[in-house]
Amino acid sequence: MSPLPLARRNKTSADNQPPLPTWGPAETVSLASRVRDSDPDEPWDLVVVGAGITGAGIARDAAMRGLRVLVLDANDIAFGTSSRSSRLIHGGVRYLEQGQIGLVYEALRERHRLKNIAPHLVTPAQFLFPAYRGDRLPLWKLRIGLSLYDALSLYQSRGHQTLGPKACREREPLLAAEGLSGAVSYEDGVTDDARLTLTTLQSARRYGAEVLTYAPVVRLARETVGERDLQVAYLRDETRVFAQQIIVAAGPWTSERLLGDVGKRLLSLSRGIHVVMRADDVPVRQPLVIQVPNERRILFVIPWGTRTYLGTTDTAYEGDPADSSVTADDRQQLYRLIGRLLPSVDLSDQRLVSSWSGVRPLVRSVRSQKKAASGGTVELSRKHRVVENAAGILAVVGGKLTTYRAMAQEAVDLVMRRLGRKRGRCETHRFALVAGEPLTAEELKNPVLADLVNRHGPEARELARQVERDSQLGERLVQDLPYRWVEVRRAITHEGCTCIRDILRRRLPLALTDHQQGARVARQVATELTQARGGSSADIEREIAEYRDALQRETGCDPPEM
Ligand SMILES: Cc1cc2nc3c(=O)[nH]c(=O)nc-3n(C[C@H](O)[C@H](O)[C@H](O)COP(=O)(O)OP(=O)(O)OC[C@H]3O[C@@H](n4cnc5c(N)ncnc54)[C@H](O)[C@@H]3O)c2cc1C
Repeated sequence: MSPLPLARRNKTSADNQPPLPTWGPAETVSLASRVRDSDPDEPWDLVVVGAGITGAGIARDAAMRGLRVLVLDANDIAFGTSSRSSRLIHGGVRYLEQGQIGLVYEALRERHRLKNIAPHLVTPAQFLFPAYRGDRLPLWKLRIGLSLYDALSLYQSRGHQTLGPKACREREPLLAAEGLSGAVSYEDGVTDDARLTLTTLQSARRYGAEVLTYAPVVRLARETVGERDLQVAYLRDETRVFAQQIIVAAGPWTSERLLGDVGKRLLSLSRGIHVVMRADDVPVRQPLVIQVPNERRILFVIPWGTRTYLGTTDTAYEGDPADSSVTADDRQQLYRLIGRLLPSVDLSDQRLVSSWSGVRPLVRSVRSQKKAASGGTVELSRKHRVVENAAGILAVVGGKLTTYRAMAQEAVDLVMRRLGRKRGRCETHRFALVAGEPLTAEELKNPVLADLVNRHGPEARELARQVERDSQLGERLVQDLPYRWVEVRRAITHEGCTCIRDILRRRLPLALTDHQQGARVARQVATELTQARGGSSADIEREIAEYRDALQRETGCDPPEM
């Protein structure tokens, strides 16, 4: 489907946005069979390998410009780094220290744009960044840095504030008093990374893009098929998927296997973990930024409803990114470094609710290789790069969740030129990911809508209507978390879920926020999914076993019986 004429479309009016196509088991089976029967006479304009935020952004941009797009992912949407980040939409205060002014400027511009196109997914928050005697960044340096941050954001958010020690502790009584010189308070955004990725892909689907998950690409090639010179993605069963252009957005999996020589030593991988605790146990009043002694690295403590999460580490990583796991050492490192400044808080495994581990795909350069060789990946640039191999296959690597839209724009501009398409101004910053009027304060008095709005935006209204018809759908899955059964139903019918791991880890982050990691509801969710797919009771047991395995692998802890 080609997009409607964008210039005439109202920015947020839901009436003018193409409807959200259903995306349940039937659609997945039908697409899988069309992909298996790919016809070289009708190649896709663009095949994107990877459904993380980078691939999602590319798919949305390309589909809005009228290209026929197929996204293939070896796993689920946002399976990789895009569901394992610090969940911040930010300029990156710490990159100022590294002199990466251009990166900060771009990220701040994108922060502003994302807030406009996805207000329900980018929640502004006041971050408190304290300085202590002997810190690498004393208060005066923080003040200068944040003045620059305000200027680079073109003063589009509330400017920073400097607080003396007393005012700082009034804001955050948990902070250690000894040696405190004060703090700066500044605005940045918090998001739900997996949901941002899904919503971007949903928007791409509205414009006709198709997305097939659990479809690993094993090899890419350029081939002459009949009269045509095409790029070809090979799936595991040797299915060939034909495209005018292939673009790899495989995050930390972008490697020699997919790109040949160009993929060799393209990336340095760096692992970062987060731990989740109850907000009652770590009752910080706002996000905190914490300096690490003798390192150019900062840590975050972020309130998350009835939970608080803490992160992150930055350790060179080798191996399959899917196997990255939280270790006891990682957790101890966070407890020690953050505990110094929150002396009254018990940061220990006794308080642990859950944890996650992700791998950063950092672009290598000769300079960065030297830095990596000298110990860590903290200093490696978060900039992205677009590369091309001898077969003309493109790849977008590096970057940040925050800058995905701009990365996609650059890549799709290039694709449009390659394909010789004239029509094609990028419009992704002009149209909401989910169109419709924001919910009013009156509507948000409804507890169901209040729970749903942060994930669904204006579409929460439609979910609330379903709850009016069937009140059981309005129940919460777990009492102190805002996830409702209507969202499980929605995940199965409209969000392309294939297994319960998709639902309980990414559509709803129950695996990260429930201390039982969804154990009490896993069987019921598996049953609903299996019924929708037409499976058997053996499928339910298999689903549960696979979910437990995935939890074990990522958290490094034994999950509860389910
Ligand atoms: C600990 C940590 C904290 C971070 N915090 C932030 C933050 O707060 N803010 C921010 O802006 N950025 C942050 N980032 C960076 C950001 O998360 C990443 O830059 C971004 O998510 C990368 O997305 P991606 O789509 O490129 O890769 P991914 O999300 O990893 O997606 C790649 C996809 O490709 C698929 N794939 C791989 N191989 C194949 C294949 N052969 N065939 C088909 N599919 C394949 C995978 O299954 C995966 O879904 C953080 C990163 C980490 C690790």
